[in-house]
Amino acid sequence: MTRRRTIVRVESVRRTFLFDPRLVPCAACGHDVQGVTPDEAARLLQSTGDNLDRFIASGEVHAVDTASGASWICRDSLFRRSS
Ligand SMILES: [Zn+2]
Repeated sequence: MTRRRTIVRVESVRRTFLFDPRLVPCAACGHDVQGVTPDEAARLLQSTGDNLDRFIASGEVHAVDTASGASWICRDSLFRRSS
């Protein structure tokens, strides 16, 4: 009697995101930027949400609104670049 050995190979395909799910289209920058939540933005600025609102109103900080009404903050706009 011969012993047959069956090898079952299970291959799984891991799907990886081809894009960063946190990339948001910033109209002010004109390209996709990394989005942070308003809370994270305030923390990065070491500031309060009220101050963040003021920065957004002045155009210094870019906000990206979503269809659901949520806002992302353009991370690039949080940091001043020396030109
Ligand atoms: Zn921007």
